[in-house]
Amino acid sequence: MSRAAKCQKCGGALVSISLRVTSGDRTMYSCSKCDNRTWDADGGPTQLADVLGELAATKVPRRNGRAKAE
Ligand SMILES: [Zn+2]
Repeated sequence: MSRAAKCQKCGGALVSISLRVTSGDRTMYSCSKCDNRTWDADGGPTQLADVLGELAATKVPRRNGRAKAE
């Protein structure tokens, strides 16, 4: 699934960052020009608050998270 995403506000190039949560992947699209941010769940758009909730409920360590000595 590759799409050349563009900002809906200014048409600038979007940078995508994917996160894995328990129920699937979440992708953040951040505009390189105006910093507009949108979130995508597996099936459609989602919101930052929802993603944060899902991240909090996700047990696996995040890729860029701090390493925890266990
Ligand atoms: Zn923009």
